[in-house]
Amino acid sequence: MKIESTVNAVRNQVKEWRKSGLTVGFVPTMGYLHEGHASLIQAARENNDKVVVSIFVNPMQFGPTEDLASYPRDLEKDSALCASLGADLIFHPEPEEMYHEGFSSYVDMDVLTQELCGLSRPVHFRGVCTVVCKLFHIVAPDRAYFGQKDAQQLAVIRHMADDLNMDIEIVGCPIVREEDGLAKSSRNTYLSEDERRAALILSKSIFLGKELVEKGETSTEKIVDAMKERIASEPLARIDYVKAVDGRTMQQIQTVQKPMLVAIAVYIGSTRLIDNFIWE
Ligand code: AMP
Repeated sequence: MKIESTVNAVRNQVKEWRKSGLTVGFVPTMGYLHEGHASLIQAARENNDKVVVSIFVNPMQFGPTEDLASYPRDLEKDSALCASLGADLIFHPEPEEMYHEGFSSYVDMDVLTQELCGLSRPVHFRGVCTVVCKLFHIVAPDRAYFGQKDAQQLAVIRHMADDLNMDIEIVGCPIVREEDGLAKSSRNTYLSEDERRAALILSKSIFLGKELVEKGETSTEKIVDAMKERIASEPLARIDYVKAVDGRTMQQIQTVQKPMLVAIAVYIGSTRLIDNFIWE
Protein backbone atom coordinates (compact mmCIF):
# COMPACT_ATOMS: atom_id res chain seq x y z
CA MET A 1 0.00 0.00 0.00
CA LYS A 2 1.29 3.44 -0.96
CA ILE A 3 0.85 6.70 0.96
CA GLU A 4 0.90 9.79 -1.26
CA SER A 5 0.67 13.43 -0.27
CA THR A 6 0.51 15.13 -3.68
CA VAL A 7 -2.28 15.45 -6.20
CA ASN A 8 0.06 14.54 -9.07
CA ALA A 9 1.24 11.31 -7.50
CA VAL A 10 -2.35 10.14 -6.98
CA ARG A 11 -3.35 11.16 -10.51
CA ASN A 12 -0.41 9.29 -12.06
CA GLN A 13 -1.14 6.14 -10.08
CA VAL A 14 -4.84 6.16 -10.96
CA LYS A 15 -4.05 6.80 -14.64
CA GLU A 16 -1.80 3.74 -14.66
CA TRP A 17 -4.55 1.59 -13.15
CA ARG A 18 -7.05 2.92 -15.67
CA LYS A 19 -4.75 2.07 -18.58
CA SER A 20 -4.88 -1.54 -17.35
CA GLY A 21 -8.68 -1.38 -17.27
CA LEU A 22 -8.92 -1.53 -13.47
CA THR A 23 -11.83 -0.02 -11.50
CA VAL A 24 -11.28 2.31 -8.55
CA GLY A 25 -13.28 2.60 -5.32
CA PHE A 26 -12.78 5.66 -3.13
CA VAL A 27 -13.37 6.27 0.59
CA PRO A 28 -12.96 9.90 1.71
CA THR A 29 -12.28 10.30 5.44
CA MET A 30 -10.82 12.70 7.98
CA GLY A 31 -8.81 9.89 9.55
CA TYR A 32 -8.63 8.56 13.11
CA LEU A 33 -10.24 5.54 11.55
CA HIS A 34 -12.60 3.14 13.34
CA GLU A 35 -14.87 0.25 12.37
CA GLY A 36 -17.31 2.66 10.67
CA HIS A 37 -14.61 3.74 8.23
CA ALA A 38 -13.44 0.13 7.98
CA SER A 39 -16.89 -0.95 6.78
CA LEU A 40 -16.65 1.55 3.90
CA ILE A 41 -13.16 0.36 2.96
CA GLN A 42 -14.36 -3.25 3.04
CA ALA A 43 -17.33 -2.41 0.80
CA ALA A 44 -14.96 -0.64 -1.62
CA ARG A 45 -12.57 -3.62 -1.48
CA GLU A 46 -15.35 -6.03 -2.42
CA ASN A 47 -16.51 -4.18 -5.51
CA ASN A 48 -13.45 -2.55 -7.07
CA ASP A 49 -10.03 -3.62 -8.34
CA LYS A 50 -8.25 -0.81 -6.52
CA VAL A 51 -9.15 1.08 -3.33
CA VAL A 52 -8.09 4.63 -2.49
CA VAL A 53 -8.67 6.10 0.99
CA SER A 54 -8.17 9.82 1.57
CA ILE A 55 -7.23 11.07 5.03
CA PHE A 56 -7.62 14.81 5.18
CA VAL A 57 -8.94 16.97 8.01
CA ASN A 58 -10.53 19.54 5.74
CA PRO A 59 -10.21 23.03 7.29
CA MET A 60 -12.92 24.41 4.99
CA GLN A 61 -15.72 22.40 6.59
CA PHE A 62 -15.00 23.59 10.15
CA GLY A 63 -16.52 26.79 11.54
CA PRO A 64 -14.29 29.28 13.38
CA THR A 65 -15.29 27.99 16.84
CA GLU A 66 -15.21 24.28 15.95
CA ASP A 67 -12.67 21.55 16.68
CA LEU A 68 -10.31 21.77 13.68
CA ALA A 69 -7.15 22.12 15.80
CA SER A 70 -8.07 19.40 18.29
CA TYR A 71 -9.51 16.92 15.76
CA PRO A 72 -7.76 13.59 16.51
CA ARG A 73 -5.06 12.42 14.11
CA ASP A 74 -3.02 9.17 13.96
CA LEU A 75 -1.65 8.44 10.49
CA GLU A 76 0.43 5.49 11.64
CA LYS A 77 -2.53 3.62 13.13
CA ASP A 78 -4.76 4.60 10.19
CA SER A 79 -2.20 3.31 7.67
CA ALA A 80 -1.95 -0.01 9.48
CA LEU A 81 -5.74 -0.40 9.42
CA CYS A 82 -5.99 0.55 5.73
CA ALA A 83 -3.22 -1.91 4.84
CA SER A 84 -4.89 -4.70 6.83
CA LEU A 85 -8.14 -4.08 4.95
CA GLY A 86 -6.40 -4.29 1.58
CA ALA A 87 -6.47 -0.61 0.54
CA ASP A 88 -4.04 0.18 -2.28
CA LEU A 89 -3.39 3.86 -1.73
CA ILE A 90 -3.82 6.49 0.97
CA PHE A 91 -4.01 10.10 -0.14
CA HIS A 92 -2.88 12.25 2.78
CA PRO A 93 -2.34 15.83 1.59
CA GLU A 94 -1.36 18.86 3.64
CA PRO A 95 -3.94 21.68 3.56
CA GLU A 96 -1.59 23.70 1.29
CA GLU A 97 -1.67 20.91 -1.31
CA MET A 98 -5.48 21.11 -1.44
CA TYR A 99 -5.87 24.88 -1.07
CA HIS A 100 -3.08 26.79 -2.75
CA GLU A 101 -2.67 30.51 -2.22
CA GLY A 102 -5.45 32.43 -3.94
CA PHE A 103 -7.87 29.49 -3.84
CA SER A 104 -11.31 30.96 -4.49
CA SER A 105 -13.60 28.41 -6.18
CA TYR A 106 -16.32 26.70 -4.18
CA VAL A 107 -19.11 24.16 -4.62
CA ASP A 108 -22.22 25.22 -2.74
CA MET A 109 -25.75 23.83 -2.47
CA ASP A 110 -29.22 25.19 -1.65
CA VAL A 111 -32.24 23.43 -0.11
CA LEU A 112 -30.65 20.19 1.13
CA THR A 113 -28.16 22.12 3.26
CA GLN A 114 -30.71 24.48 4.85
CA GLU A 115 -31.84 22.15 7.64
CA LEU A 116 -30.17 19.97 10.30
CA CYS A 117 -26.36 20.31 10.38
CA GLY A 118 -26.51 22.95 7.64
CA LEU A 119 -28.44 25.23 10.04
CA SER A 120 -26.13 24.65 13.00
CA ARG A 121 -22.91 24.68 10.94
CA PRO A 122 -23.36 27.38 8.27
CA VAL A 123 -20.08 26.86 6.36
CA HIS A 124 -19.96 23.09 6.77
CA PHE A 125 -21.53 21.78 3.59
CA ARG A 126 -19.81 24.29 1.33
CA GLY A 127 -16.55 22.91 2.71
CA VAL A 128 -17.71 19.31 2.32
CA CYS A 129 -18.98 19.77 -1.26
CA THR A 130 -15.87 21.67 -2.30
CA VAL A 131 -13.41 19.14 -0.89
CA VAL A 132 -15.35 16.08 -2.09
CA CYS A 133 -15.63 17.61 -5.57
CA LYS A 134 -11.87 18.24 -5.58
CA LEU A 135 -11.14 14.72 -4.31
CA PHE A 136 -13.42 13.26 -6.99
CA HIS A 137 -11.47 15.15 -9.65
CA ILE A 138 -8.14 14.00 -8.21
CA VAL A 139 -9.02 10.34 -7.65
CA ALA A 140 -11.55 9.97 -10.51
CA PRO A 141 -13.11 6.86 -8.95
CA ASP A 142 -15.83 4.62 -10.36
CA ARG A 143 -17.51 4.42 -6.97
CA ALA A 144 -17.29 6.46 -3.78
CA TYR A 145 -18.38 5.21 -0.34
CA PHE A 146 -20.07 7.28 2.38
CA GLY A 147 -21.63 6.36 5.72
CA GLN A 148 -25.30 6.72 6.60
CA LYS A 149 -23.99 8.02 9.94
CA ASP A 150 -23.69 11.39 8.20
CA ALA A 151 -27.07 11.05 6.50
CA GLN A 152 -27.39 14.66 5.38
CA GLN A 153 -23.86 14.58 3.96
CA LEU A 154 -24.69 11.42 2.01
CA ALA A 155 -27.83 13.05 0.58
CA VAL A 156 -25.88 16.22 -0.28
CA ILE A 157 -23.10 14.27 -2.04
CA ARG A 158 -25.61 12.20 -4.03
CA HIS A 159 -27.36 15.40 -5.04
CA MET A 160 -24.11 17.13 -5.99
CA ALA A 161 -22.98 14.17 -8.10
CA ASP A 162 -26.34 14.20 -9.87
CA ASP A 163 -26.58 18.00 -10.33
CA LEU A 164 -23.02 18.29 -11.62
CA ASN A 165 -23.10 15.16 -13.82
CA MET A 166 -20.32 13.41 -11.97
CA ASP A 167 -19.90 9.96 -13.43
CA ILE A 168 -19.37 8.33 -10.04
CA GLU A 169 -21.63 5.86 -8.25
CA ILE A 170 -22.29 7.06 -4.71
CA VAL A 171 -22.64 4.10 -2.35
CA GLY A 172 -24.22 4.56 1.10
CA CYS A 173 -23.20 2.18 3.93
CA PRO A 174 -25.09 1.47 7.20
CA ILE A 175 -24.18 3.01 10.56
CA VAL A 176 -21.68 0.95 12.55
CA ARG A 177 -22.30 1.11 16.31
CA GLU A 178 -20.49 0.18 19.51
CA GLU A 179 -21.91 -2.89 21.24
CA ASP A 180 -23.99 -0.68 23.55
CA GLY A 181 -25.50 1.27 20.63
CA LEU A 182 -23.39 4.44 20.43
CA ALA A 183 -22.63 5.24 16.79
CA LYS A 184 -18.89 4.99 16.16
CA SER A 185 -17.27 8.37 15.65
CA SER A 186 -13.77 9.80 15.73
CA ARG A 187 -15.21 12.43 18.09
CA ASN A 188 -16.16 9.79 20.71
CA THR A 189 -12.53 10.02 21.77
CA TYR A 190 -13.28 13.47 23.27
CA LEU A 191 -15.68 11.94 25.82
CA SER A 192 -14.77 11.45 29.48
CA GLU A 193 -15.95 8.28 31.19
CA ASP A 194 -19.13 9.98 32.46
CA GLU A 195 -19.77 11.58 29.09
CA ARG A 196 -19.27 8.27 27.29
CA ARG A 197 -22.03 6.81 29.47
CA ALA A 198 -24.23 9.87 28.91
CA ALA A 199 -23.67 9.68 25.12
CA LEU A 200 -25.78 6.53 25.04
CA ILE A 201 -28.80 8.82 25.19
CA LEU A 202 -28.36 9.51 21.46
CA SER A 203 -28.83 5.93 20.30
CA LYS A 204 -31.49 5.33 22.97
CA SER A 205 -33.57 8.20 21.61
CA ILE A 206 -32.97 7.04 18.01
CA PHE A 207 -34.16 3.53 18.90
CA LEU A 208 -37.18 5.03 20.69
CA GLY A 209 -38.11 7.12 17.64
CA LYS A 210 -37.77 4.13 15.36
CA GLU A 211 -39.92 2.01 17.65
CA LEU A 212 -42.68 4.64 17.62
CA VAL A 213 -42.67 4.70 13.81
CA GLU A 214 -42.69 0.91 13.65
CA LYS A 215 -45.70 0.86 16.02
CA GLY A 216 -47.59 3.09 13.60
CA GLU A 217 -47.18 6.62 15.00
CA THR A 218 -47.72 9.01 12.08
CA SER A 219 -47.16 12.40 13.74
CA THR A 220 -43.53 13.49 13.45
CA GLU A 221 -44.17 16.05 16.20
CA LYS A 222 -45.08 13.29 18.65
CA ILE A 223 -42.02 11.26 17.65
CA VAL A 224 -39.67 14.23 17.92
CA ASP A 225 -41.18 15.30 21.28
CA ALA A 226 -40.78 11.81 22.73
CA MET A 227 -37.15 11.70 21.57
CA LYS A 228 -36.46 15.17 23.00
CA GLU A 229 -37.96 14.14 26.32
CA ARG A 230 -35.75 11.06 26.44
CA ILE A 231 -32.63 13.12 25.68
CA ALA A 232 -33.60 15.74 28.28
CA SER A 233 -33.56 13.00 30.93
CA GLU A 234 -29.75 12.94 30.61
CA PRO A 235 -28.24 15.88 32.56
CA LEU A 236 -25.01 15.98 30.51
CA ALA A 237 -26.90 16.22 27.20
CA ARG A 238 -27.90 19.43 25.44
CA ILE A 239 -29.98 19.19 22.27
CA ASP A 240 -28.82 20.98 19.12
CA TYR A 241 -31.65 19.54 17.02
CA VAL A 242 -34.07 16.62 16.76
CA LYS A 243 -35.91 16.66 13.44
CA ALA A 244 -37.88 14.53 11.01
CA VAL A 245 -37.26 15.48 7.38
CA ASP A 246 -38.03 14.26 3.89
CA GLY A 247 -35.29 11.71 3.10
CA ARG A 248 -34.58 13.31 -0.28
CA THR A 249 -35.02 17.06 0.19
CA MET A 250 -34.07 17.30 3.90
CA GLN A 251 -37.09 19.58 4.48
CA GLN A 252 -39.12 19.14 7.69
CA ILE A 253 -42.28 17.05 7.46
CA GLN A 254 -45.37 16.80 9.69
CA THR A 255 -46.44 13.27 8.85
CA VAL A 256 -44.38 10.10 8.66
CA GLN A 257 -43.53 9.21 5.07
CA LYS A 258 -41.02 7.15 3.12
CA PRO A 259 -38.23 8.02 2.76
CA MET A 260 -37.97 9.89 6.05
CA LEU A 261 -34.81 10.81 7.93
CA VAL A 262 -35.02 11.36 11.68
CA ALA A 263 -31.77 13.02 12.68
CA ILE A 264 -30.37 14.36 15.93
CA ALA A 265 -27.38 16.41 17.03
CA VAL A 266 -26.69 16.53 20.76
CA TYR A 267 -23.90 18.07 22.79
CA ILE A 268 -22.50 15.81 25.49
CA GLY A 269 -20.46 18.29 27.48
CA SER A 270 -18.70 20.23 24.73
CA THR A 271 -18.69 17.34 22.23
CA ARG A 272 -21.30 17.51 19.49
CA LEU A 273 -22.47 14.07 18.36
CA ILE A 274 -24.96 13.05 15.67
CA ASP A 275 -27.11 10.01 15.01
CA ASN A 276 -30.14 9.16 12.87
CA PHE A 277 -32.45 6.56 11.43
CA ILE A 278 -33.94 6.26 7.98
CA TRP A 279 -37.48 5.06 7.30
CA GLU A 280 -37.83 3.78 3.75
P1 AMP B 1 -15.23 11.20 8.80
O1 AMP B 1 -13.83 10.69 8.89
O2 AMP B 1 -15.90 11.36 10.12
O3 AMP B 1 -15.35 12.40 7.90
O4 AMP B 1 -16.06 10.06 8.08
C1 AMP B 1 -15.67 9.53 6.85
C2 AMP B 1 -16.74 8.63 6.33
O5 AMP B 1 -16.97 7.57 7.25
C3 AMP B 1 -18.08 9.34 6.14
O6 AMP B 1 -18.69 8.89 4.95
C4 AMP B 1 -18.85 8.90 7.36
O7 AMP B 1 -20.25 8.91 7.16
C5 AMP B 1 -18.34 7.49 7.54
N1 AMP B 1 -18.58 7.05 8.92
C6 AMP B 1 -18.18 7.68 10.06
N2 AMP B 1 -18.64 7.02 11.15
C7 AMP B 1 -19.37 5.97 10.69
C8 AMP B 1 -20.11 4.92 11.32
N3 AMP B 1 -20.21 4.82 12.64
N4 AMP B 1 -20.73 4.03 10.52
C9 AMP B 1 -20.64 4.10 9.16
N5 AMP B 1 -19.95 5.08 8.51
C10 AMP B 1 -19.32 5.99 9.26
